[in-house]
Amino acid sequence: MLAKKIDKPTHFSLRKLDPSDDGGLSREKSEAKLPEMLTRLGELQELLYAAGTHSLLVVLQGRDTAGKDGTLKAIAGAMNPVGTRVTSFKIPTATELSHDFLWRVHQQAPAHGEAVFFNRSHYEDVLVVRVHQLAPKEIWEKRYEHINNFESNLSDSNTIIVKFCLHISKEEQKQRLLEREQDPKKAWKLNPSDWKERELWDQYTEAYEDAIGKCASEKAPWLVICADKKWARNIAVAEALLSILEPYEKTWRASLDALGEKQKAALATLSERR
Ligand code: AMP
Ligand code: MG
Repeated sequence: MLAKKIDKPTHFSLRKLDPSDDGGLSREKSEAKLPEMLTRLGELQELLYAAGTHSLLVVLQGRDTAGKDGTLKAIAGAMNPVGTRVTSFKIPTATELSHDFLWRVHQQAPAHGEAVFFNRSHYEDVLVVRVHQLAPKEIWEKRYEHINNFESNLSDSNTIIVKFCLHISKEEQKQRLLEREQDPKKAWKLNPSDWKERELWDQYTEAYEDAIGKCASEKAPWLVICADKKWARNIAVAEALLSILEPYEKTWRASLDALGEKQKAALATLSERR
């Protein structure tokens, strides 16, 4: 698998992973293979939806320009809009701030049958909040445990949790920010604060390393994606999701078959049809 999976607490080092790693795959072959993978992903999502026994929560995290929007377009875009939702977490509103940090997040968690993509997430509360000291250390350092408990609760309610960290290099970020300035079609994405955030690169690296290392479990693993190459990123994310969803296929098909039989039996009792 292209993605680096972290599924137990560890001292994680982001710095050891090369963001331009593409696993030695060729771009042409990968781009030719992606549509099939996405079709299969769409199939699995429809099974998840129809069976209605599990929920899927996909968390997307990454620095500015890491490719969260592009990943959503490629991956969430391949799923049936019926049963799929994207939630983007922005700077909290006054109301949100007047509650605990998970309040706004829990409301957006997927119901059974639903696939929900979090574009940023509760992890911002141990990332931007920590780096910019928006809350004192005594507050944010307790949040890792709260997050673990929260995710464990979701998992106990049949939520399949997959957390992606899109890992890009500082150089690639610079290229992407400059591209936004030069390409009139991308200018709308410009945000002067992205350059300011860049100055805090190392602080963010540390915060990401802690978020990943402290909040990794079998039921809510992190998958770090080397994301300098957009084509490799898409393949890596699709491949990781397939490997996590495929083991459920049999169960979902069995519960749908059972439902079909039950409905047929009910139909057979209707006198109208005799
Ligand atoms: P964007 O994803 O570019 O639309 O920007 C959303 C902004 O909201 C980013 O700068 C995030 O860091 C910020 N944000 C998201 N969640 C939080 C949070 N819990 N506290 C503070 N800022 C946040
Ligand atoms: Mg932004």
